[in-house]
Amino acid sequence: IDLINDARAPFAKHQWASAPLLAGTPQPLDAKPVINPADPADTVGTVANTSPADIETALSNAAPWDASPEERAKVLNKVADLYEENFGELFALLAREAGKIWIDEVAELREAVDFLRYYAANAPETPPVGVFTCIAPWNFPLAIFTGQMAAALAAGNAVLSKPAEQTPLIAHFAVSLMHKAGVPKHVLQLLPGGGDIGAALTSDPRVGGVAFTGSTATAMKIRKAMAENLAPGAPLIAETGGLNAMIVDSTALPEQAVAAIVESAFQSAGQRCSALRCLYVQDDIAEPFLKMLKGAMDALSIGAPWDISTDCGPVIDETARKGIADHIQQARAEGRLLHELKTPNSGTYIAPSLIKVDGIDQMKREIFGPVLHVATFGSEELDKVIDTINATGYGLTFGLMTRIDDRVQHVTERVNAGNMYVNRNQIGAIVGSQPFGGEGLSGTGPKAGGPHYLARFSAAPASQ
Ligand code: ADP
Repeated sequence: IDLINDARAPFAKHQWASAPLLAGTPQPLDAKPVINPADPADTVGTVANTSPADIETALSNAAPWDASPEERAKVLNKVADLYEENFGELFALLAREAGKIWIDEVAELREAVDFLRYYAANAPETPPVGVFTCIAPWNFPLAIFTGQMAAALAAGNAVLSKPAEQTPLIAHFAVSLMHKAGVPKHVLQLLPGGGDIGAALTSDPRVGGVAFTGSTATAMKIRKAMAENLAPGAPLIAETGGLNAMIVDSTALPEQAVAAIVESAFQSAGQRCSALRCLYVQDDIAEPFLKMLKGAMDALSIGAPWDISTDCGPVIDETARKGIADHIQQARAEGRLLHELKTPNSGTYIAPSLIKVDGIDQMKREIFGPVLHVATFGSEELDKVIDTINATGYGLTFGLMTRIDDRVQHVTERVNAGNMYVNRNQIGAIVGSQPFGGEGLSGTGPKAGGPHYLARFSAAPASQ
């Protein structure tokens, strides 16, 4: 524990400032503060916002990576080395800017490094698309941010990178390490800012393709902007939201199921696109099972991300907090709030809660926080439950807890979901062997960290 806390020591010490990471003349800084979600009095640093002139500079200077696949792989492996060497600084930024607890910091760094090494090992010979815009979310501000760029760079593209507006500082530090490792500045440029910058970077005909992770609604806007402005056939690789369910039948091992549910719904304060949102429990075990689940929730520690004992940190910002709090308040008013923990007084915290629903069809949208919705089903209703889950149109993750072998096959064959988890927590993927990605409204595919992903970052072979 001392080792981990020592490594995160920069947390207490410095303020980060992001200078422009653009090729060509740096623009004057238009600095904006970045606030720690767990402590409104703490300014983590300042970010240089991108101006329209910066976008023009970046687009006119962007040039694909003139290096062999072997050279690109060497540089990307060097980036991975630098990430590993700078883990203390990265952990500190993940805690202070994104509210991540240490177990999530470790997992996130691991995933980022795995993406870098996997795409480096598979760097293709094929020609690049040209200029790729990569737009990242705040919930995995290192892993997803790095994964998109690592794939685009491994294939030799120039990258215009736009991090989420909530997490520009870790993006800045990561891109500085990429430049230090040898990715040329005209190949990788960072353009921090909000949706307007994202919109500009996805509607310029000089952009050849887009990698995006975020909401389904934004992905649809981007698809439209690309269709109107980019060359026909320009690839959009989108990973979007989910409405993820788990079915627990009466043969499931309750201790195993409860532990897995707590992690799946509440780890990372529920801010994972894979997180469990709606739990279906078979009615004949529902009462004792939910009692056990509430007991396990009561043991969670909610508090500051930098405390080693914390299980559940803050949500990303006040807008997120308010949206989730309103949803809980509505459930309370309707008498559907089954359980709720206590929330710390300052910072953007939301305490884990359980909300009763008739089914996943009652959820109108993804609630991106530590809120688990619970429904029950009768022994004859399993297929109906599966139909309801499929009818949401999303298809990201799905979980099943059962000890009936035939049921595993029956259910997993029928549910539409990119990643399925049986008798375990509904979390995670393994770069290379168990890639991650959804179906339907949850994404375009191919799955990140899988064999077909890199191919989308190369130019399609000319048709005869
Ligand atoms: P979230 O709900 O996770 O914040 P968003 O889809 O709003 O999801 O944001 C994901 C990323 O998309 C962020 O980097 C955000 O700035 C960017 N973004 C938002 N609106 C647009 C847009 N119209 N065009 C391109 N990017 C956008």
